[in-house]
Amino acid sequence: MVAVRTYPVGMSSAIPLNVGIARSAGVGNALADGGKRVLLAEPRGYCAGVDRAVETVEKALDKHGAPIYVRKEIVHNRHVVETLRDRGVIFVDETDQVPEGAVVVFSAHGVSPAVHASAAARSLHTIDATCPLVTKVHQEAKRFARDDYDILLIGHEGHEEVEGTAGEAPEHVQLVDGPGAVDNVNVRDESKVIWLSQTTLSVDETMETVQRLRERFPALQDPPSDDICYATQNRQVAVKAMAPECDLVIVVGSRNSSNSVRLVEVALGAGAKAAYLVDFAREVDPAWLDGVRTIGITSGASVPEILVRGVLDMLAEHGYGEVQPVTTANETLVFSLPRELRDARR
Ligand code: SF4
Repeated sequence: MVAVRTYPVGMSSAIPLNVGIARSAGVGNALADGGKRVLLAEPRGYCAGVDRAVETVEKALDKHGAPIYVRKEIVHNRHVVETLRDRGVIFVDETDQVPEGAVVVFSAHGVSPAVHASAAARSLHTIDATCPLVTKVHQEAKRFARDDYDILLIGHEGHEEVEGTAGEAPEHVQLVDGPGAVDNVNVRDESKVIWLSQTTLSVDETMETVQRLRERFPALQDPPSDDICYATQNRQVAVKAMAPECDLVIVVGSRNSSNSVRLVEVALGAGAKAAYLVDFAREVDPAWLDGVRTIGITSGASVPEILVRGVLDMLAEHGYGEVQPVTTANETLVFSLPRELRDARR
């Protein structure tokens, strides 16, 4: 059974993030009838990799003082980036925009060896906030390139994570951007082909891509372990559990956040009548609420909970004061900070 509890939104600050473990989907029978209601997906929001990356920048600011530099957005969330910018972080696209010798943090999405080399050439003091689960995919790419495999990297063209992973073995990696790209793949030896993936993809679409790849290359090998990370999978499972009940799903997250955009797609695919992505409560269009009884709320892995609270408060003002958690997993994973900041962990 999915865990379901009811409480008034005015008590929202007391909502525990994880209220139980339930693996099966389906919320209908346990829910109260009548009136407007909100289903609140659990888990949602910050994952262990984002928490570590944001804390890395905060601790680097404490230790080294402003300004410090961050290559790319530390995580893909407008609120997080704007808040850190206010504290003295300068976000740059490339390391050649960082003054020689300055402190630069690499984002949670990871960087290629070429970026490390370029930073070293400018004597930058680098702090690597790459999520350990992204690093794991880098290690896989290096290992299978060493064994001379063709590596089919399923992911979105232009995404920073994909650029970093592909950069580990550019001679061996081909990007496969969804099922429609499978026909364009060519390999040298069909007996030595493996697929890897970006960590934040739709599980279902990725499996479709893999199936089509396997039709072309029957000996295709699977990754040693799941590349789509636990947080991406858990958030998709939670949204699938509540979506069939929902007239509307609101996903809190930024447009450049891959896992947030996937949650909108998963909600629609699982039966939500409508689904929208918003960065802030002020972006919720009251017209979306016309005739709507049940609203599902979730948030991407880079979204601080304060932004979800803002949406809940806005919805309460429109009569959606009853909030019912829909819990499909309990997350307890925590990653340690980069070594040089470890003694500074709060
Ligand atoms: S979404 Fe997954 S891979 Fe990305 S930072 Fe979070 S835990 Fe790491």
